[in-house]
Amino acid sequence: MTQKRILVAGAGGFIGGWLVNELIKDSRNEVLSVDIKPKSEWYQSFMGATEVVSDLRDNRNTDEVTEGIDEVYNLAADMGGMGFIENNKALCMMSVSINTNLLDSARRHGSNKFFYASSACVYNQSLQKDPKNLGLRESDAYPADPEDGYGWEKLFSERMSRHFYEDFGLETRVGRFHNVYGPYGTYDGGREKAPAAICRKIAQAKLSGNPDIEIWGDGEQSRSFTYIEDTIKGINLLMGSNFRDPLNIGSNEMVTINQLVDIVEGIASFKVKRNYNLSAPLGVRGRNSDNELIKSLFNWQPDVRLVDGLTKTYEWIYQELSKS
Ligand code: NAD
Repeated sequence: MTQKRILVAGAGGFIGGWLVNELIKDSRNEVLSVDIKPKSEWYQSFMGATEVVSDLRDNRNTDEVTEGIDEVYNLAADMGGMGFIENNKALCMMSVSINTNLLDSARRHGSNKFFYASSACVYNQSLQKDPKNLGLRESDAYPADPEDGYGWEKLFSERMSRHFYEDFGLETRVGRFHNVYGPYGTYDGGREKAPAAICRKIAQAKLSGNPDIEIWGDGEQSRSFTYIEDTIKGINLLMGSNFRDPLNIGSNEMVTINQLVDIVEGIASFKVKRNYNLSAPLGVRGRNSDNELIKSLFNWQPDVRLVDGLTKTYEWIYQELSKS
């Protein structure tokens, strides 16, 4: 009955875990989940998938896991929020070997399709100085001036994916994710992103009764945040299509960090005292997704309202914190 053998790289992480959950719903899929982390640290684990611990920076390992694979989804990377990527540029760039080895092994084993998880961090930084960002179009990645380290790796790997189609005929798809959030993601330890960090800080404040929380910067920097189920839907639509250029998979509901805090305060029914840390890592001043292209291709764009996605995320983080 198996029609497709699928490899999910980075399956022990946030997006990879949700993707495996989706892919195993189709009984014709045979899913191989791979991650470098010990299995006890995977965010989600499923009976319906074969799980392997392997370092995909090593091409002997990518050769092993791509044998007999029809489709590859590469979600594996050393990454985190601004605090992590601003201080670990070399480490972020080392992820280039994961995608390079996976592409090369996949084409040698005759895989049909390959998904690469790129990021809004590829966009030219000079277009992101205004908090009222109208939205970054796919063409705004060039002329290139991406986020140092992490963004350059993403842009390079996007191009390499494209050349693997041009030179070898491997069908590659590139999704540019915009700040993904949801349950079963990183919410502490230094790699978490703003939505999870704010949910954790407010949940901790509520649980402890101490209302003080730290906000990075003046809170007026803006972003759009994409609920994980929208990201998974966008990946599936893109993989099922013939579209070969990079595509934004991101919400265009832009808010400032202060507005994000307002929303989570409302969900938690708890008011915090905001202490602004002006020397914290900040990233660009304003970033939003332009969704004209995804709408024209699929008659759809990420549409889960921020308040709805944050409610699920806050509740999950609150429960996790309540356990300890
Ligand atoms: P994550 O950190 O939760 O998952 C990444 C996984 O890759 C981790 O479990 C990690 O152990 C694994 N990994 C790292 N190095 C590896 C290696 N050498 N071999 C095998 N596995 C390895 O991150 P995520 O949020 O799930 O992100 C998935 C992908 O999406 C990444 O490429 C990331 O850059 C991209 N992305 C994410 C976001 C976001 O907001 N979460 C935004 C833009 C792009």
